[in-house]
Amino acid sequence: MGSYRIGVLLGDDIGPEIVPQAVAVLGAAVESSPGLELQFVDMPIGAYAYETTGYTLPPGTLERLAELHGWILGPLGHAAYPRNDPNAINPHPIIRRHFDMYANIRPSRSLPGVKAMHDGVDLVIVRENNEGMQPDRNMHKGSGEFMPTPDIALSTRVITRKGSERIARAAFELARARGQARAASGQSHPCGVRARVSVVHKRTVFKLTCGLFVDTALEVAQQFPEVEVDDHHVDSFAMVLAMKPQRFDTIVVTNMFGDILSDLAAGLVGGLGLAPGLNVGDRYAMAQATHGSAPDIAGRNIANPYAIIVSAQMLLAWLGQRHADEAAVSAAQKIDQAIELALSQDGIRTADLGGSATTDQFGLAVIQRLCSRQ
Ligand code: ATP
Repeated sequence: MGSYRIGVLLGDDIGPEIVPQAVAVLGAAVESSPGLELQFVDMPIGAYAYETTGYTLPPGTLERLAELHGWILGPLGHAAYPRNDPNAINPHPIIRRHFDMYANIRPSRSLPGVKAMHDGVDLVIVRENNEGMQPDRNMHKGSGEFMPTPDIALSTRVITRKGSERIARAAFELARARGQARAASGQSHPCGVRARVSVVHKRTVFKLTCGLFVDTALEVAQQFPEVEVDDHHVDSFAMVLAMKPQRFDTIVVTNMFGDILSDLAAGLVGGLGLAPGLNVGDRYAMAQATHGSAPDIAGRNIANPYAIIVSAQMLLAWLGQRHADEAAVSAAQKIDQAIELALSQDGIRTADLGGSATTDQFGLAVIQRLCSRQ
């Protein structure tokens, strides 16, 4: 097929600075990939959409997204949206739910020459995206959080067999693919295994909810004999993750635990600027960095675009896999290599990594590496 329509939703604060870098990198990858075509479709969202249309998620957005193959969503500064206006909602949980994007794939890996707390990290957190503790998405209607009296606040945690089964399957399939890729390139994982899934939970306390999650994941594990499996309590797991992150390969976890652990994992390899993510369902995928809209550094051209560029690269790789499209897979690999060279050979670093490169210069360095491969 080789021709894809990709939505571009800039988002807030640093979004309009970093998202265009990701689009430019994808565009440059197309230039060096015969047989691959990307058409970008701009769509307003967030504060800008609110100013111009009166809605943070303008009517018709979901219908237009459904006509695309995937999209890049910039960070949303929803905490600053007007309170008590039903048109000023946080759009991203709605989009994730509407398109049934149940898996949030968040890799953390050590990058060449980037000083961080740890070296040799190569892990990926597979976080359940649409249930768990998050009250803005775990109910069919209404909120999972409520106050029966002014002095009592309650929150509901939702774990389903279906949700647990499909996030576990996504994790085992990913671990198997990572193992196969390592074997093909003659590399091994720092922890010495071919492929392993670690199931993270707190079933000693959440006997029913975490119990259902772990039991379901272990049932799925039986269909993947080539992938090792272990399980960990989330509290001790957090300690080992902080001290020995090289021990982990693929981690499958419920929504809120996964949100917290993925920020921790980002911190181990250099910070939120290095934390990409892909939201995946059975039909659609959405590139979305782990970090927020970073209002404290917005408008200064200093934000690190790495996370959104890699998120877009993951989207391209996903499209390639889904459509068995060698050109898209290979273009995604080229972007990966270009980023690695820009970091290791050109020493490009934004301020969060102790450097002085601007957002634009980072994007340009990756593009120059991509173009020099032709
Ligand atoms: P959210 O809850 O929406 O995820 P947050 O509260 O986690 O947001 P962020 O907006 O992610 O907060 O910012 C946390 C810190 O990380 C800030 O100091 C911000 O400047 C920094 N940061 C986030 N993203 C980047 C980036 N791409 N480049 C450099 N620094 C970043």
